[in-house]
Amino acid sequence: MADCLFCSIIAGSTPAHIVLDTPEVVGFLDVRPVFKGHTLLVPREHIPTLVELPDELSVPLFGAARSVAAAVRTAYSAQGSFVAVNNVVSQSVPHLHVHVVPRTKGDGLRGFFWPRTKYADDAEAAQYATTLRDTLSS
Ligand code: AMP
Repeated sequence: MADCLFCSIIAGSTPAHIVLDTPEVVGFLDVRPVFKGHTLLVPREHIPTLVELPDELSVPLFGAARSVAAAVRTAYSAQGSFVAVNNVVSQSVPHLHVHVVPRTKGDGLRGFFWPRTKYADDAEAAQYATTLRDTLSS
């Protein structure tokens, strides 16, 4: 898509350090990594957010995320990883991308970027669960 930064990286018009290149998915290093090796995985097709991702691209995209999550352990001796997708809110590039951030205990990343809240009580949690269950099954 014209004017999309990640489409431009996929097309090769904007330089990036490509780490994975398949018919459905491209992976490249994030230019401002949380930790070195932080990788972004994008569908080749311009898909804005996770909500628009078709079934046939879900396995290629998240399979690639799984492969990179495994590879960073070997490549960088990371103990694990943080895998995340911003959708609309906090999403600075409107082309779906999965972040894979290499993690190691004591690396200094705390709270996974966001503050936590609490349910007022178990009844409120149950109500949230019911509402979402009903929406998912409707
Ligand atoms: P998000 O904030 O979830 O939309 O993530 C977008 C990510 O794209 C950020 O982590 C940026 O550092 C990264 N980014 C922006 N421009 C580039 C670029 N030209 N090459 C690689 N990564 C980029």
